[in-house]
Amino acid sequence: MKNFQGKGQRPTAPCKRCGAVALLCRSHAINDAFFKGIFRENSGKAHHLAIGAEKPVTTSESGWDYLLCEACEAHLNNNLDRWGHRWFKDAQDKIARDGWRGKFEIDPTRMARYVASVMWRASVSKAGAYEGFITNPTLRGQLKAVMDDQESPLEDFSVAINLLYDSEGQFSASALRRIILSPISWIKRGGQIDRFVISMTVEGFLVVASYPKFPWRNRLSSGFLNAQKSYIFMRPSDIRKTAPFPDLLEDVMRQLAG
Ligand SMILES: [Zn+2]
Repeated sequence: MKNFQGKGQRPTAPCKRCGAVALLCRSHAINDAFFKGIFRENSGKAHHLAIGAEKPVTTSESGWDYLLCEACEAHLNNNLDRWGHRWFKDAQDKIARDGWRGKFEIDPTRMARYVASVMWRASVSKAGAYEGFITNPTLRGQLKAVMDDQESPLEDFSVAINLLYDSEGQFSASALRRIILSPISWIKRGGQIDRFVISMTVEGFLVVASYPKFPWRNRLSSGFLNAQKSYIFMRPSDIRKTAPFPDLLEDVMRQLAG
């Protein structure tokens, strides 16, 4: 996998978020803490699925690029990344402790902003794990707007979160947590409007975002964030039947075997 982790010095250039010319940080799209946890449990390897240009790779690198000034980096790390990471870990801990219940407390506004912030960073990152997956400038602009909208990020953006499982039992819950699907986008045609759909995985959960948001009829189904509600109902989502996984599993299985 191509990676951007060269040697060299941190460049002084416009921050991708605020535009100020500053010494840029090594910014991760997917919080490095996810990778560190996985590396500890899996002797330094995560199954990082980079779709499109390359096949899935087993990697010990999380992928970063010089994106943000120090203030923006700290803002996203402190206000969104740490919180988001904690939410997904807590949800997994709750499932391990209590079994599957489906209902989870959540701050829907903050979760929408967290999801958009990961997807936006992936969209502007040149790290090999993310390059080329979200290229549309309208979508990039929308992700940035959602990330920075403290009041109503779900106004025209929908997010659904569901737990991944394997109906064939080859991937255990902990194996699924080690599979990281980089944010990828496609255009879903149909109905009166085309919409962008972006999928990624976090800690064994599938996160699917859409802009413009899915119509209300869709949003009544499981896993959708509702700006008016402080909880979501999630459901198990079969990795064998959920795009884009069926196409990728063969490669992943081969790597797990090797
Ligand atoms: Zn900045």
